[in-house]
Formats: sequence, structure tokens, C-alpha cells
Amino acid sequence: MTDASVAASIAGWERPRPLSDRTALVTGGASGIGSAVVRSLAVRGAHVIVADVDGDSAAALAEEVGGSSWTVDLADTLALTDTVLREACAGVDILVNNAGIQRINPIQDFAPADFRLILALMLEAPFLLTRAVLPDMYAAGFGRVINVSSVHGIRASPFKSAYVAAKHGLEGLSKVTALEGGEHGVTSNCVSPGYVRTPLVEKQIADQAVVHGISESEVLSKIMLTESAIKRLVEPDEVGSLVAWLAGAEAAMVTGASYTMDGGWSAR
Ligand code: NAD
Repeated sequence: MTDASVAASIAGWERPRPLSDRTALVTGGASGIGSAVVRSLAVRGAHVIVADVDGDSAAALAEEVGGSSWTVDLADTLALTDTVLREACAGVDILVNNAGIQRINPIQDFAPADFRLILALMLEAPFLLTRAVLPDMYAAGFGRVINVSSVHGIRASPFKSAYVAAKHGLEGLSKVTALEGGEHGVTSNCVSPGYVRTPLVEKQIADQAVVHGISESEVLSKIMLTESAIKRLVEPDEVGSLVAWLAGAEAAMVTGASYTMDGGWSAR
């Protein structure tokens, strides 16, 4: 082969689209890790429903990737009735529970309303969505539930009581989904990143600088990355690739697992 013919075949090379007959629903899909997951699934051929409280950003991303969007406040769990969920989740083969927020405060100062909000968004909503997608997945004999947990689903950290509790709960819910879904062709796994370069973390860096009275660069070097063997933030695309792999056929025997992507933090 000449250099020119190699170049021509690379230019004409089409990326395999192993998810082209799949529909995915990604919560919190309009920003950060969620938007990287949306792009990662869409580039592999999936039709992606971008579910987010930020309806404008969700619609813009859905248009970019040829998907659709669902404007929804997932913390308002009383509004997530069976009827609403049945309509939103019809035909979903891949559910990615990703939407999340963070509040940082010592327990004695932690507002009970904030605790309830985080548990509703990050544990109850994933339960309700999982409950809604399973009947169609069982009928089809295929399904993937992928829960975006955190290293805080495995290890605790001070001042993040609600977040740590919600993520630990999500790890448990994910395992139960795996045990119940296995014989129906449904797998369920957690992806558990360390600090990822997203708007959520950028806000957290600023908040921690205030709480500890140090600079933002010191928050990275003295707090966030001290436990990491690879001293950098995770990139959202790296999480997106792992989610896409879990969604595909190659991961059929992977279930009930929690994949850390934390630069070695949890190995310590
Ligand atoms: P982000 O703030 O960039 O994105 C979160 C998305 O969730 C936003 O689009 C937001 O609009 C949406 N959202 C927030 N509240 C919602 C609600 N009530 N209903 C519907 N959508 C809502 O955050 P991110 O860093 O990409 O985090 C995504 C997930 O990854 C979260 O579950 C988070 O806990 C987890 N995570 C993040 C990191 C990190 O370092 N960024 C690390 C580990 C785990």
C-alpha cells in the first residue's frame, strides 16, 4: 500500500457503530460527565435521550447528536409518576443514572432540606427510573443500567454526608439490580470516578477554597489529588468511553461491578 492509499483508507474509515439499534437515556446529560456520555453513546450509533432540568442545554445537545431531549426535574420525585416514567422510558435499552449535585457542610450545619434533595435526585430517582425501564428490558432480554457513582460511593469524605450516603446507596441499588436482572439479560454496574474536570468540580474547588481558607490550586494539590497516584483530574471523555464499553456487547458478563476511575485513589 502506498502512503496515499493508506491516507485515503483512513479518511474513508468509518467508526463501528455497535449501538446503532439501541436507545439510551442519560440523566444529567446536558453537562459535564453526562454530556460526554451522551456523545460517546451517540458516536457509537445509539439514539440518545438527554434528560436534564436544564432543558435548553439538553435540547441543544440532543440536536447536535441527532437524539431527543426530556426536560425534567429529577429531584421532584413525586412528579415522577408511573405514567410520566412509562412515557419517558419507553423502548430504553440503556439507562445511565448520572444527574447529581453536591453540597458541602459539616453534619451539624447540613440543612435537612439539602440532605433530602440529594437523596431524592441521586438515589430515589435512579430507583424510580430503573423500576420504569426494567419491564421493557426484561421483555427484550437485553438491558444495561449504568450508574454514575463516585469514589465517594466506596470511600467517605468529611462534609459530604448526603453525597456519600447517596452514592453508597446507589452502589447497593446497582448490585441488587444486577442480581435481579441477570437472568433477563440485564446488567447493572457502577462507574465510580475520582475528581473529573466538570462544572460541578470547578464549583467544588471554589467552595473548598473558602471552607479551608486556601487557594484553588492548593485545593487541588493538598486536598483533591493527594490520594491519587496519577496527579491529574479525570477527563469527562474518559468516563464516557467506560460507560460506552459497559453498554456494549463485550461487557455482557460484567454485572454487579463498580469500576473506579480515580487515578489509583481507592487503591490506597
Ligand atoms: P455537572 O454539574 O457538570 O452536571 C450535572 C448535570 O445534572 C447538569 O446538566 C444538571 O443540570 C443536571 N441536574 C442537576 N440537577 C438536576 C435535576 N434536579 N434534575 C435533572 N437534572 C439535574 O456535574 P458532573 O460533574 O458532570 O456530575 C455528574 C455525575 O457524576 C454526578 O452524579 C456526580 O456525583 C458524578 N461524579 C462527578 C465527579 C466529578 O468529579 N465531577 C466525580 C465522581 C462522580
